[in-house]
Amino acid sequence: PLSAIVNFARGAMRRVRSDNFDNQTMLEVLEQISLQAERAGEIIRRLRNLVARQPPVRSSVEINDMVREVCSFVEYDMRKLGIEIHLDLSPEALPVRVDLVQIEQVLLNLVRNAMDALERVPEQRVLSIHTSAWGEDSVRVTISDTGPGIPESDMRHLFEPFFSTKASGMGMGLAISKTIIEDHGGHIAAESIPGGGSQFTLLLPTYMYETNSEQASGVC
Ligand code: ADP
Repeated sequence: PLSAIVNFARGAMRRVRSDNFDNQTMLEVLEQISLQAERAGEIIRRLRNLVARQPPVRSSVEINDMVREVCSFVEYDMRKLGIEIHLDLSPEALPVRVDLVQIEQVLLNLVRNAMDALERVPEQRVLSIHTSAWGEDSVRVTISDTGPGIPESDMRHLFEPFFSTKASGMGMGLAISKTIIEDHGGHIAAESIPGGGSQFTLLLPTYMYETNSEQASGVC
């Protein structure tokens, strides 16, 4: 929105300088500037709400339960879009110590992005979610889609704030997701085969608790 404001303002200045403007056009430009400024304000308000939640909330949860819950949030929309969902969840429990709401928000954002991508292909709309233990001390979640993939030129901007290729996108989903995951000591990455789909991978530290101690202590 800030780039849009700059562009509209520069356009207006150019018109005024060359004496090539009418009131109606100017009014429309000013309306756009005001609309975009409100949108920027809304984004900042949301970010402040996100970071103001101190101290961090952490509870021990099972990643497979979170994945199932997030899938239930989007079940109706998936069916409406004709998206097939493949769940390949680890049979063993994968405990993590996280802020449940934040991590579900990240998962939901990745699933929603995959759904937006799948909407752009006419058929073979498949979304796959896979969970597994990763190495000694991590839990891995991958969310893959058979959408159009991500052009090479967009790959390096994916996690930048305000990067969006959608008409009404905010471009904050992946930037916020990265902040949340790194705040949990984890890692997020994207891969894509242009024309062949995308895959987002999350790594989170496994919650290792001592079963014989009275109070479980987290090693994150
Ligand atoms: P938004 O969804 O508001 O655009 P995000 O930060 O969530 O913001 O995503 C940024 C951009 O990354 C999207 O606009 C899109 O171009 C790209 N993207 C994210 N996920 C996918 C995906 N699964 N397939 C293709 N492109 C994607």
